[in-house]
Amino acid sequence: GYDYCIMARIIGVINAKGGVGKTTTANNLSAYLSALGKYVLLVDTDPQANATTGLGVYLKDDHLNLYHTLIGDYEPDAIIRKTGMLGFDVLPAASNLAGASVELVNVEEREFWLKKVLNKIRTNYDYIVIDSGPSLGMLTINSLTASEGLVIPVQCEYYALEGLGQLLSTIDLVRSSLNPQLQIYGALLTMYDKRNALSQQVADEVRKNFPGRVFESVIPRSVSLAAAPSFGKTIFQFDPDSKGAQAYRQLAEEIIKLT
Ligand code: ATP
Ligand code: MG
Repeated sequence: GYDYCIMARIIGVINAKGGVGKTTTANNLSAYLSALGKYVLLVDTDPQANATTGLGVYLKDDHLNLYHTLIGDYEPDAIIRKTGMLGFDVLPAASNLAGASVELVNVEEREFWLKKVLNKIRTNYDYIVIDSGPSLGMLTINSLTASEGLVIPVQCEYYALEGLGQLLSTIDLVRSSLNPQLQIYGALLTMYDKRNALSQQVADEVRKNFPGRVFESVIPRSVSLAAAPSFGKTIFQFDPDSKGAQAYRQLAEEIIKLT
């Protein structure tokens, strides 16, 4: 048995901009938290279900998924799946979850439904990591309301800072009413290419915009990181000696120190 009661830290991986490395970060951060001995649950709140399939869990469109515990009467335990790593589970998404944003609009306390679901299983894990889709819709608001701290991946590319202002004001809004404790753990530089001067420029810009709140770990652009999910594997399983793997391990270590 345990000599302490676990109460998961809840980490939201968020950025309304698409394709910046949210899912890659959520899955590989979770994998390394797990590899470092933590019990981890990844919660996929994106109807695209990239995090789910990236962990080798393949569901039919309306097969039991987050939708059924968010909106329906299912207990989360009935929906949670194991991944290929011991102590690392996933609360999967499927395409019908897209309907949830619409259905939630007319229910009471619509911003708190995910938080209520996670409260039921919070004592089973050390970390719950939430992957969000590229929008500021009701599912993302639910992620922000349920999270204690946020990791904000920023791609080292043109227009990296586009939309960050809107994200930060949404975070402030959520803090002022729904979730006063919400922290920004840090911005995370992703797809960094050290041979490209632009990457360095973007990194400098981001450090100016998030003073003291940019993770030391920088995620390099890496073919292995891009390929792993198509095999249903995290980088820890697919190519643990790669630079990308080392970077996500370092990020997990930073998160453990912070939390
Ligand atoms: P969405 O907004 O659609 O949910 P996202 O922010 O979750 O996107 P990812 O799916 O993680 O972004 O990444 C977008 C694409 O970039 C994917 O094809 C992914 O494999 C690739 N990618 C992510 N990180 C890296 C990296 N460090 N190096 C190379 N490719 C990467
Ligand atoms: Mg994604």
